Order: sequence, then structure tokens, then C-alpha cells
Amino acid sequence: MAQSSIVMPPYSNPPQVRSLAEILPDESLLMMGAGPVPIPEAVARANSVVINHLGRTMSTIVDQVKSMARYVFQTESEWVLGVAGPGSAAMEMAICNLVEPGQTVLSVNNGFFSQRMAEMSRRLGAQVQVFDVPNHQTASVQEIERQIELHRPDCVTIVQGETSNTVFNRELPAIAKAAKKHGCLVIVDAVCTLSTMPLEMDAWMLDAVITGGQKGLSSIPGVSLIAFSNEAWRRISERKTPNTHWCLDAKLAENFWHKGSYHYTAPVSGVLALHEALRLVCAETLPTRFERHARCSSALQHSMEAMGLSLFAVPQARLNSVVGITVPTGLTGAAICTHISDRYHVEISGSFGLPIVRVGQMGEQCREHNLFRTVHALGSTLRDLGAKVDLPIGMAALESSLQSRPIPS
Ligand SMILES: *Cc1c(COP(=O)(O)O)cnc(C)c1O
Repeated sequence: MAQSSIVMPPYSNPPQVRSLAEILPDESLLMMGAGPVPIPEAVARANSVVINHLGRTMSTIVDQVKSMARYVFQTESEWVLGVAGPGSAAMEMAICNLVEPGQTVLSVNNGFFSQRMAEMSRRLGAQVQVFDVPNHQTASVQEIERQIELHRPDCVTIVQGETSNTVFNRELPAIAKAAKKHGCLVIVDAVCTLSTMPLEMDAWMLDAVITGGQKGLSSIPGVSLIAFSNEAWRRISERKTPNTHWCLDAKLAENFWHKGSYHYTAPVSGVLALHEALRLVCAETLPTRFERHARCSSALQHSMEAMGLSLFAVPQARLNSVVGITVPTGLTGAAICTHISDRYHVEISGSFGLPIVRVGQMGEQCREHNLFRTVHALGSTLRDLGAKVDLPIGMAALESSLQSRPIPS
């Protein structure tokens, strides 16, 4: 009998790569852009744990995640679910469960992320009416109500904070009330705002609220949260057309998030990380957390203006969670972001075509030591690149703004 010989298949050679230790910077960068944001130690530790996704321990963790999320969303609705995916997956989950082909969606458009909701609705075969809000303005309830009367939409999509141009839709509660008066469902993107400023899902009668992990909550990117109102859940249960998205089908996701059974293998480590992030929010309490954000963001804004820079959004429409700073003439956003990262190990963000750089004030970014380092790094960067800024005045304004608003004891 012939000796069987091992035939080598024609595999190509493995690539030569560098280890992460060789690639990552020696000193970790301070993440002060529009997300992801720094994560607390407890979140990082939880993210390194893998457990059985269907065991008793997981079921306890899922229950706690839901009850803590209800507090953060300020809802008593049972229908809170996690999503394996970015904030955009939660957004798509809201839209693909609540919007059916042929229905009319009014998409309030403040910019880049609002447009994403319009695009998702269009792809589902909805009739999308886009209402463009001018760049520096917040959506006005009178105008939106006129649009609702004109188009009679089944559903309204709106962002609480538009991260791209740093505009805050402060009239959201009144807009949602007007939409509900006309029988529309209200889908709200709270990716950059949840847990950084008030949002009251039940009191404002919102039907779906979505958020990502990597912004206000200071968890990892890629595991997100969604909450549906009872009315939204009823509509989902009574749908006539099947959901075209299998992974994002809320009735299938209910299996894991409410019945302890299988839908897809949950991102267990990410859910554990989210658990820790939510636990820290609950320990801090929402009012204290909102005040921390308001205090830090306002100090940052004062220091930027004192340094001689201008803020992109006008005060009435300005978002606190992400601060947009107009790029001084002669410079580019890309040059600023590269230099501040290379020289000062601080990461900030450019924007999507707008002449601004953006500094985040979400979750762990709102710490005084992070603010001092960031303002110093940004001022020094602009000076290095030849812009005229008064950095000492900016640093002093940061300190005096913080002092003028003491932390409540
Ligand atoms: C970041 C962000 C998103 C997108 O989140 P991803 O996790 O990148 O998908 C959506 N909306 C707003 C307002 C955001 O700030």
C-alpha cells in the first residue's frame, strides 16, 4: 500500500505585520473628538470578559442593563433592547421596524446625521419629505408643524443634537408633542446627547430613542441601545409587511433581550462594558451628570472665545455635547487635527465639509484635567501653525469659568 503523502495546498504566504505594541502610540492619545470617547477603567475591564451569552449570569446582566437604560432614557416602557452594532445600526433598527414601504416620513434635516435617517427611510421604500433646517438654526416647532400638516407623515425623524454642525434642537419636546397631536410616530437620534443633557422619553412622548455606546455613555463603540414606546411596539407587532432586516428585527431581538433565548450571539463583552457604563451613570445620577456636562462645556466655550476663536453655532442653537470651533483663516481642520495629535497626543475631530474642528464634551471628556490638557494642546497647536491666539487668556478663562460654577456638594 502506497504511503499517503501530504500534499501542500497552494496557500500563499502569511502577511508580515507589525504587532499592536509596535503600531499603537507609546502614550495613549486623549480622545477629545466627536467620539469614541475615553472609557472608565471599569468599562475597559468588563470589555475583556467573555461569558455564556445565554446563561443565568447573562440574563441577570441583561435585566440590569434594561432597568438602568430605562432610567437613562427616562421611560417606563418595557421595550428597551441592545443592538450589536454602531449607533447607526440602532438608527436603522428604529426606522426599519417602524417605517413600512409606501409610508410617509418627515425627516427634519439639520445635517449629516439627520440625512442618514432620511436615506435609511428612502431605502426602505418610504416617501421621504426632507425639511432642511438652515445650518446655524434649530428646528422650529411652528415650521415643523406646518410641514406635518402639509405632508401628513406617518413618522417624523429628528436628531436631538446634530454632531456634524454642533446644533442643538432645543424645541424637540414641543416638536414631538405637535407630531403626536397629528398621530405621527417620533424617532429621535440621541446618539451624542443621551446622558449628557435632559431627554425624557415618556414625558416628551417619543416613540423610539436611539444611542450609541461611544459617546455620552462612555462605553465602547459597536454596542448600542434603543428604546421603543408602547405605541411603537404595538405598531411593530401589527406590521403587515415583514421586516427586511433580519438582525435588526425587533421581534426577533425580543427573543434575546426579553425572553432569554437566542437571536444571534450577543456581543457579550460589549454588553458587559455597557452595563458598567450605565452603572456609573446611575451612580452619578442624571442631574449631577447633566450639570457636569453643562459646566465643563460652558467653560470650554468661554476659553475658546477668550483665546480669540469663534464658535460655529450661535448661542441659541449651540450644542453642549460637541463644540464646533471655526478654523482660523489660513489653516485647515486637517492640519490642526494632525498636529494636535502628533505633537500633543490629543485627538479632536474635523467635520464633514464644514470649516470647523470639533471638541467633544461627552461622558469622560467632561473632566477638568482633560479640559486643561485639551485647551492647552489646541491653543499651542494653533500658535505652532501660525494663528493668532491668546493662550494664557484662554487658560485663565477656563479656570475662572469653572470657578464661577462650583460643583454642588
Ligand atoms: C455619532 C453619531 C451617529 C452615528 O453613530 P455611529 O456609532 O458612528 O454609527 C449618529 N447620530 C449622531 C447624532 C451621532 O453623533
